[in-house]
Amino acid sequence: MNWKGHVGLSLLISSLLMTPFGLNVITLSFIIITVLFSSLPDTDLIKLLPIDHRDLTHNVTFGIIFGAILGAMIGFLAAMFTSNILGIFIGLAIFLGITLGVFSHLLGDMIAGLRYDGTPWKIKPVRPFSDKSVGYGVFMATDEKVNIIFLKVGGLAFLFYITFGIFTRYSTIL
Ligand SMILES: [Zn+2]
Repeated sequence: MNWKGHVGLSLLISSLLMTPFGLNVITLSFIIITVLFSSLPDTDLIKLLPIDHRDLTHNVTFGIIFGAILGAMIGFLAAMFTSNILGIFIGLAIFLGITLGVFSHLLGDMIAGLRYDGTPWKIKPVRPFSDKSVGYGVFMATDEKVNIIFLKVGGLAFLFYITFGIFTRYSTIL
């Protein structure tokens, strides 16, 4: 799956998760953070880094650790300039958003990732707790058509989140 597919899948998951909580700055920020970090594991494609693709950055532990570090740093800074409660809240939102972004990436790569020889390109999603490889290789990661479909479905889910949010905010029926 390329970044378009990952944006779509993370948008789909986060929008549906946030819809019940309504349209507000908290849920919207959470969706934005999740989408922004949905391709974080693919930083292993940067040639300067001496790590293999779909290896060290493609597991839940990476997402949790990265999210915790960045969430703690930004939360601490926010607490210095605002209040402790707001700092904790911002830090927690960043932690959860990044974690979900990485989780959605892993899910996407487990679905997409078909090698040219027809075998699935598996990842080890629960390292270091288990070396079990998971991957279904439903389509090729580079398949532009499928990636665009994911992007469109994610966009629709986001529109649903917005529409439902506006409707519930201004409607007296619900
Ligand atoms: Zn990936």
